[in-house]
Amino acid sequence: MSYRILLLPGDGIGPEIVAEAEKLLRAVAEKFGLDFSFTRGLLGGCAIDATGTPLPDETLALARDADAVLLGAVGGQKWDRGPAHLRPERGLLGIRKALGLYANLRPALLFPELAGASTLKPEVVAGLDIVIIRELTGGIYFGEPRGVERLPDGSREGRNTMVYSEAEIERIGRTGFDIARRRGRRLCSVDKANVLETSQLWREVMVRLGGEYPDVELSHMYVDNAAMQLVRAPKQFDVVVTENLFGDILSDCAAMLTGSIGMLPSASLNQTGFGMYEPVHGSAPDIAGQQKANPLATLLSVAMLLRYSLGEAAAADGVEQAVASVLRQGLRTADIAVAGEPVLSTAAMGDAVVAALCAGG
Ligand code: NAD
Repeated sequence: MSYRILLLPGDGIGPEIVAEAEKLLRAVAEKFGLDFSFTRGLLGGCAIDATGTPLPDETLALARDADAVLLGAVGGQKWDRGPAHLRPERGLLGIRKALGLYANLRPALLFPELAGASTLKPEVVAGLDIVIIRELTGGIYFGEPRGVERLPDGSREGRNTMVYSEAEIERIGRTGFDIARRRGRRLCSVDKANVLETSQLWREVMVRLGGEYPDVELSHMYVDNAAMQLVRAPKQFDVVVTENLFGDILSDCAAMLTGSIGMLPSASLNQTGFGMYEPVHGSAPDIAGQQKANPLATLLSVAMLLRYSLGEAAAADGVEQAVASVLRQGLRTADIAVAGEPVLSTAAMGDAVVAALCAGG
């Protein structure tokens, strides 16, 4: 099979980690008899520098022409003082919106070898394997009216609006049920229905959808309790589905259960299964250009790309097993090493995963 992959390296450590992803995809092609053609585009700060906008039309056109998109990360201090529409993050929000990527999947999986890296007790997190599904294109991040206004008395007032249509809730709800069906068949819908009307509608729609998925156990939890439960007993969850703002916060909380942000992949999907794949972490300007970044979150994002957008499950399994294998061998980048352990560079870790993939069954 032949697939077109758009690479968006972005800023900071983005180019270093995406280079390892490309290397891995070339090895996957060889091993599994696939054919990838790669194109490259600009997004974020590098796009502002080159074209004056964080999301050039050309990037969007390249994305629409691709089978899947792999993104490094965007952002950096250099662009933080610009006007809001000229910030790298606007490029990220813009491409998600333009491509209709409404479902953000964030697995939080703790490899047994790294249980000691979590700030929680190993018995609380060992064997953790949950997925947080965050609605990505609606809610308070996009709702109108928004802005800061000057009041008649001269003081200022800021305003954002949380809006969800029934159709938006149903769409993300179905994604939740579908993913739960492929896993442990338990779905926890997180809302704030005791206070927010948006959440009351959310819960109503989830209950209605639950009738269509009798094989999935549906539960509901208020977001404040969910935050507490995630750090108290995270293994009680299988799949969590929630709206944009709650998901933003809870998925970062779930990320930290695993100890290292350098290990966590993500996928953002639209209704056709087209997706953009990226590590959860940012552009890490503090270590950019130094070959210190952990590429595993990006390489695990490659596995998600193979699984969810290309339907190449065997290749996805191969990549995940290769990552597990390098961790079993004790290979570590600086962020996941304990004091005194030898540390691999970004490229050396990428090479190790390629070697494990080629050696795998
Ligand atoms: P960050 O995730 O970039 O970095 C937080 C800390 O984690 C840093 O100490 C960094 O060195 C470390 N880290 C991150 N990824 C790592 C990796 N792969 N290997 C080893 N260590 C890693 O978050 P931040 O510092 O808050 O943000 C930096 C920039 O990234 C900002 O401009 C922010 O807006 C942007 N950002 C972008 C995205 C994205 O592109 N999706 C997400 C979050 C932040």
